Amino acid sequence: MATRLEPQRLRQLRDALVAKRRQLEAEVGRSALYEKGSDDDATKDLGDQANTAYTREFLFELGNGDRRLLRDVLNALRKLDEGGFGECERCGEPIGERRLDALPFARYCIECQRRQEDEHRAAS
Ligand SMILES: [Zn+2]
Repeated sequence: MATRLEPQRLRQLRDALVAKRRQLEAEVGRSALYEKGSDDDATKDLGDQANTAYTREFLFELGNGDRRLLRDVLNALRKLDEGGFGECERCGEPIGERRLDALPFARYCIECQRRQEDEHRAAS
């Protein structure tokens, strides 16, 4: 499904996402991204057991916020490649361009985000 975003805008947003991913990677630790059987050479370089154990522990220690954010960023990058980027995951409406500027990894439009947060509050 085509989004209404121009190719140039998409490139900017992709750049922003990649930059964010790099930043989070540095914080979260590289191995998290390669954990799922990637044949990337980086995995082999990390092959040392102690190193891996250390990284796991480190990941475990990390705040949920960073990990969730990284997941959202990766998710957004995948949608850029596979389609669906810029659409709300909940209602399917386009996410506002301003919102994408501020939060290129946003999964929901502003209305759904609010509703989601309300439900969260109600549930807890
Ligand atoms: Zn929505």
